[in-house]
Amino acid sequence: MASVEDELVDYDEEADAVDENDSSKQVKKGSYTGIHASGFKDFLLKQELMRSIVDCGFEHPSEVQHEVIPQANLGMDVICQAKSGMGKTAVFVLTTLHQVETEGDAQVKVLVLCHTRELAFQISNEFQRFSKYLTDVKTGVFYGGVPVRENIKVLKTACPHVVVGTPGRILALVKSKDLDLSHVKHYVMDECDQLLGELDIRKDVQQIFMATPHDKQVMMFSATLSKEVRPICRKFCQDPMEIYVDDEAKLTLHGLKQYFVDVTEAEKNRKLNDLLDALEFNQVVCFVGGASSDGNVRRGKARSETLSKLLEECSFPSIYIHGKMRQQERLTRYKRFKDFEKRILVATDLFGRGMDIERVNIVVNYDFPKVADQYLHRVGRAGRFGTKGLAISFISSEEDRAVLKEVQERFTADINPLPDSIEVSSYMNA
Ligand code: ADP
Repeated sequence: MASVEDELVDYDEEADAVDENDSSKQVKKGSYTGIHASGFKDFLLKQELMRSIVDCGFEHPSEVQHEVIPQANLGMDVICQAKSGMGKTAVFVLTTLHQVETEGDAQVKVLVLCHTRELAFQISNEFQRFSKYLTDVKTGVFYGGVPVRENIKVLKTACPHVVVGTPGRILALVKSKDLDLSHVKHYVMDECDQLLGELDIRKDVQQIFMATPHDKQVMMFSATLSKEVRPICRKFCQDPMEIYVDDEAKLTLHGLKQYFVDVTEAEKNRKLNDLLDALEFNQVVCFVGGASSDGNVRRGKARSETLSKLLEECSFPSIYIHGKMRQQERLTRYKRFKDFEKRILVATDLFGRGMDIERVNIVVNYDFPKVADQYLHRVGRAGRFGTKGLAISFISSEEDRAVLKEVQERFTADINPLPDSIEVSSYMNA
């Protein structure tokens, strides 16, 4: 077992994020222009799903849900790019649960791949939340960092119908013949540019794909899907329905106020302290480090720890998370933040994608990201589902300035110099 474990690659550091059932609906969802007038009932979903949709407090489908759910329910292949926080997860969770058949022997029918463990965990929670009344449906989540024998035990004793996982672990389970994918009917890739962009991960994804039947539905999702990745996506699909936000300029979030401030490296801590004192916030994520194009991601580890400790010394309830932590520790910390035990999370880009913590209304780029796409994923942690939010970026080098310029140009993002004071109502929901 240990050898399998050793072989597993940890892809996670770079991107991801998401979150799950948030029972608290204290934060009022903002209105979002893209929310369509039709209701969930128009999708003719199973009654059991309708009940859980009501339980979740979803009233209207978002634009992406309105566009994709009807087609996906018919079993069509889908390639979908839509901005973060607009409910892409519910698209594949609802449509696969709507279609899944549970009669006969338990077999894996739905496979969802994503690139980080936290994201896998969050997605599996979404499956659990929406399948609450579909009592036959079982969900399993498999990722590296936990003993593989635990996964094998689950597969042997109560084979799940839905499997969510990261490519390294899923492939290991396929190779060891513990995971049988020959009955898979729905193959989903979330944050698919992350799964297909890098060659080694793509190879794993392809091998897993080969272990599934030819005849199946393939669905791929991301907030960023470059022109280079799209043809690769198509190779996995048959005559897919392709939904793109037509140009990158539309990818920034409506409810999000974005500012930058010039500071030297030495001034960052002071500035952050002042901001945290002055601003009102529910929860804050501070991003440190950053994956550069040469893949150097180490910097964030020590920085996250040091900064978080410093904040604690200044009596700010802070916690940190980075990809070099043990998996259990990562999950515990993630949960503590999600459960509102801590108000500030200092994180590396590990947390930059997909993670959905409803109470986060402020993102601080303590270190500016090294690549423009990453900016979009990070700031998308605030202003989820059309709610208001605030993103403040520290700019301390020429390199930062260049990436900021690219972000402003590519995404026509309105990122202004930080004013002396910011109207609270501009970034907090009433
Ligand atoms: P994405 O995958 O597009 O980044 P998520 O699927 O994480 O976005 O959804 C963001 C948040 O919005 C989640 O908390 C989710 O529960 C919530 N959400 C999704 N769809 C709806 C809806 N139709 N109505 C209200 N909230 C929704």
